[in-house]
Amino acid sequence: MDKKKTKINTPQTVTSYINGEWVEPKKSTHQLPIIHPANEAEVSILYEADAKEVKTAAKAAKKTFESGLWSKASVDDRKAVLLAIRDLILENQEEIAELEVMNTGVPIAQVCGRQIPRSAMNFEFFAEFISQASSPVFDQNPDYITYVRREPVGVAGLIAPWNAPMALATMKVAGAIAFGNSCVLKPSELTPLGFIPFMNLLSKAGLPDGVVNMVNGRGGVTGAAMTQEEDIDLIAFTGGTETGRLIASEAGKTLKKTVTELGGKSANIIFSDADFERALDAALVAIFSNNGQQCLAGSRILVEKPIAKEFKKRFVERVHNLKIGDPYDKNTEIGPLISRNQNERVASFADAAEQSKNTNILCGGKRPKAFEKGYYFEPTVVESSDNQSAICQEEIFGPFATILEFEGIEEALQITNDSKFGLVSYVWSTDVRKIMKAQADIRAGVVWVNTPLMRELRAPFGGYKNSGIGRDGGEWSRNLFTEEKTVSIPLKDFPIAKLGER
Ligand code: NAD
Repeated sequence: MDKKKTKINTPQTVTSYINGEWVEPKKSTHQLPIIHPANEAEVSILYEADAKEVKTAAKAAKKTFESGLWSKASVDDRKAVLLAIRDLILENQEEIAELEVMNTGVPIAQVCGRQIPRSAMNFEFFAEFISQASSPVFDQNPDYITYVRREPVGVAGLIAPWNAPMALATMKVAGAIAFGNSCVLKPSELTPLGFIPFMNLLSKAGLPDGVVNMVNGRGGVTGAAMTQEEDIDLIAFTGGTETGRLIASEAGKTLKKTVTELGGKSANIIFSDADFERALDAALVAIFSNNGQQCLAGSRILVEKPIAKEFKKRFVERVHNLKIGDPYDKNTEIGPLISRNQNERVASFADAAEQSKNTNILCGGKRPKAFEKGYYFEPTVVESSDNQSAICQEEIFGPFATILEFEGIEEALQITNDSKFGLVSYVWSTDVRKIMKAQADIRAGVVWVNTPLMRELRAPFGGYKNSGIGRDGGEWSRNLFTEEKTVSIPLKDFPIAKLGER
């Protein structure tokens, strides 16, 4: 990393944050290096929380919850704290962004332009939501009034991935605490750094100690301990599909409420009547932003035959021009992948594409020669004639676009739905009937029509099929983070059977 481009001091140790205090690092604790993916340098050391430490964090969260200090605080008080957290994220955005880039290798322009503002917005959104939310009253029966109370569930276990660490984790933290829960957050073991300034700003914002606790460590150790922990009442998980399966089955043993937001292999359908230039720009954004490491990537680009040749030519020309480089450089468009493992995984799909007779690499497919160090991978475009091939069915999670041709809407929809995933989808057309058919028949949680990446926080977000169970966003986050209690009160005395009276 070019030191001149960053102003921050990287925290040398990462530990748990429990009840408003950092746990002291102990030599005997299992340690993991934190690596900057652009130069493979070890920048910090993570001291892993074991099951005992997870229990301590869960107990702290439970104690705070039961104290009522936060769980029974007025909505106005909670709203004020959430808005103060928003302000402090924005005040500290430079430090948080630089640590995120250090961890993820995502270009700074994207972290500052999208992810940190979104992290702040998550708190603003839930602050506004709780101040407006209401619950139903049932007064149809003239003898009773029955109404529904929404109460926090208790201790929320929040397990987050590495691809957009703050933006995704803060959606969960903001939702959990807005409704009065306490929580234990576990960021990915690859990307804990940005959470250090974040945890420090929570108490400055007026959040009582113990409401948000953080544990750090590997999924199989720290994460597994969370899913087994009796004092954690629910799990909100974002990550890979296989992990989601494991977590849901583990969490089932202690009957935790569970929401899983998982992987995707989303189709980006471009009809020949689409606005070609806009569809082209958006197709590049949908697959190459965040270094291609995003669940909602438009990774299968389906192009209608009459425009396919021209689209591929123009798409590849633009990909050749993408600026790959130091993620701290404001002009960089593609940085390194998160880790050596991820780099090897992406390379293995390029190798498979090279071997297959149904696929043809149009550009990329290798580690770029210009970088001696770092987990860089060339932005890659592959055309395929077989939607069953691995590059069309598996989530690659890298700067890797697959282009398929189709003839007519029926074939487009058949290819789109021929996937075990169903997270998002993109449709490009100027024909309203085509759009209406596509949005109805696509089996995915989100359909974006003539736009890339529109995340409306008021609306539900989540997947069909292997892309997850449950949704988040406004009302749907409220469903996850609250219990509903039905209260009935009679409005007059009525006869009650006198059992046991002779
Ligand atoms: P991952 O599943 O490897 O890890 C996610 C989190 O789960 C990490 O914190 C990890 O430590 C933890 N974990 C791993 N094993 C665990 C276990 N047995 N018990 C408890 N916790 C465990 O995913 P990742 O590689 O960090 O992230 C990439 C994946 O996340 C991709 O598949 C991507 O599509 C998905 N994702 C989905 C969404 C969405 O909203 N649907 C958003 C972003 C990323």
